[in-house]
Amino acid sequence: MPKVIVAGSINTDVLTTMRRAPRPGETVSGETVAFGRGGKGLNQGIAAARQGVAVEFIGRVGRDAFGDQALAFLQANGVGTGGVHRTDTATGTAIVMVDAHAENSIVVIPAANGEVSAADLDAVAIAAGDILVSQFEIPRATIAEFFRRGRAAGATTVLNAAPALDDAPDSLWADIDILVVNETELGHFAGVDLASDAAADAVAAAARRLMRRPGQTVVATLGVRGALAVTAEDQVIVPGRKVKAVDTTGAGDCFVGAVAARLALGDTLPQAMGHANVAASIAVTRVGAGDAMPTGAEVLALLA
Ligand code: ATP
Repeated sequence: MPKVIVAGSINTDVLTTMRRAPRPGETVSGETVAFGRGGKGLNQGIAAARQGVAVEFIGRVGRDAFGDQALAFLQANGVGTGGVHRTDTATGTAIVMVDAHAENSIVVIPAANGEVSAADLDAVAIAAGDILVSQFEIPRATIAEFFRRGRAAGATTVLNAAPALDDAPDSLWADIDILVVNETELGHFAGVDLASDAAADAVAAAARRLMRRPGQTVVATLGVRGALAVTAEDQVIVPGRKVKAVDTTGAGDCFVGAVAARLALGDTLPQAMGHANVAASIAVTRVGAGDAMPTGAEVLALLA
C-alpha cells in the first residue's frame, strides 16, 4: 500500500490573548495562554494520518519539551517519526497574540525547521506510488532534492507553495506533479492581481501560468468557495460546503493532507479533492490547527 511521506515543518503554537498587543518597549498583561500543535508539515501529516493511511515524517525538532510533545503527538496519531531528527536548535515556535478585536500579531521562528537537510531524507525509503508532500517552511534546496528523488522513484510529488515566498528554483517547480496554492499564493506566483471573488475562469487562467511541463496539475483552494484544479486540458471545480466556521487556521493544511492521503488510498484527484473539501470544512468548525483535523470516518459519514 502506498504511503504518504511529508518533509516539513513542526511548530509549537503559543496562543495568547490580551486586551491589546504590546507596543515596542511595553509590557502588557495577557489573559489566556494555550499551547497548540502546528507547522504546515505537522498539520498536513496529521490530516493525512487521520484519513487512515501510513504516513512517514521527515523534519527536525529541538532537544526541548516542545520537541518531546511534538514527537509524542505525531506518534499518537500514527505518524512514523523515524525521519524526525533532534537538534540543539530550539523547536520551531509560532507566538500568536490575539487582541480584544480578534486582530492577530504573529511571529514565527523556524528554528530547527531551518536545518532540515537533504541528508535527513535518507531516513525514509521512497517507493513507487508513494505520495510526497512538502511546503515552503523548510529549506527549498531540501524540498528540491526530496522531489528529485521522488520522481526518480516513481512517486507523486505534491507541493503546497505556502507561505508565498519570492521564488523557488526552476528545477523544483518542474519536479512538482500537483501544486496546491490558496488565492494569495496563486496571485503571488502567477504575478497577477486576483480578486478574492475572481471568477473560476480567471482563477484557472492564473493557475495555468504556474505550469512548467505537461502532466502537472495546479489546485487552487478558494476558502468558502471550495477548490479548483486545472491540468493543461481539464478543469475540475469542487464547491465549498456551508458550515459555521470558527477558526480557519490549518484549513489549507487539512485539504493538502487529506488529498495526499486519498491519492495514496487510490482515489483519482477529483475524488481526493471532494474528500479533502469535506475534511477541511470540518476542520474550520474547530479551534486549532493540528488538533482540529478530522478523521476519515468523520468525512465519510458526511459523504455517505
Ligand atoms: P489557512 O491559511 O486559513 O489555513 P488557506 O488560505 O491555505 O487556509 P483556504 O483556501 O482558505 O486555504 O481553505 C482551504 C480549504 O478549506 C478550502 O478549499 C475549503 O475546502 C475549506 N474551507 C476553508 N474555509 C472554509 C469555510 N469557511 N467553509 C467551508 N470550507 C472552508
